[in-house]
Amino acid sequence: MSSKVEVNKVVSVHYTGSYTDGEVFDTSEGREPLLFLVGHGQMITGFEQEMLGAKIGEKREFTLTPEKAYGMRDESAIQKVPKSQFPDDMQLVPGMVLGAQSDRGPVQFSVVSIDGDEVTVDFNHQMAGMTLRFSVEVVGIREATRDELAHGHAHGVGGINH
Ligand code: ZN
Repeated sequence: MSSKVEVNKVVSVHYTGSYTDGEVFDTSEGREPLLFLVGHGQMITGFEQEMLGAKIGEKREFTLTPEKAYGMRDESAIQKVPKSQFPDDMQLVPGMVLGAQSDRGPVQFSVVSIDGDEVTVDFNHQMAGMTLRFSVEVVGIREATRDELAHGHAHGVGGINH
């Protein structure tokens, strides 16, 4: 039986992601392959859709519009926050990316500007609004374990370990 990329399989891939101008923003080259559980929101939706049905050794190249990648930019995700909400000893610099806890789990945001006691932050994903290109090669496919299905992510080298 030949396995293919489908829901509830753990897939390992080598990949290179680039912007439309060709600049590479991330690659697994020189690292362990990326490991992910299909169908549990571990990857951006377009990435999984494009890889469904691929077999080991298969290489696919595709372009994802923002809706299938990190979404469109949302202007309401740019907010003003009192500086007092940040630790006293934190040096706030425009462009820095910080993490915070929200009621929906950890979120990332970037600092846009600091005006006196007011900090403008942007909760949009760094790659929101961008069209992304991927070149992906499937290097392994296996059944997910019971733990992985319960956790919603792949375990092991290149995956998540908790
Ligand atoms: Zn886990």
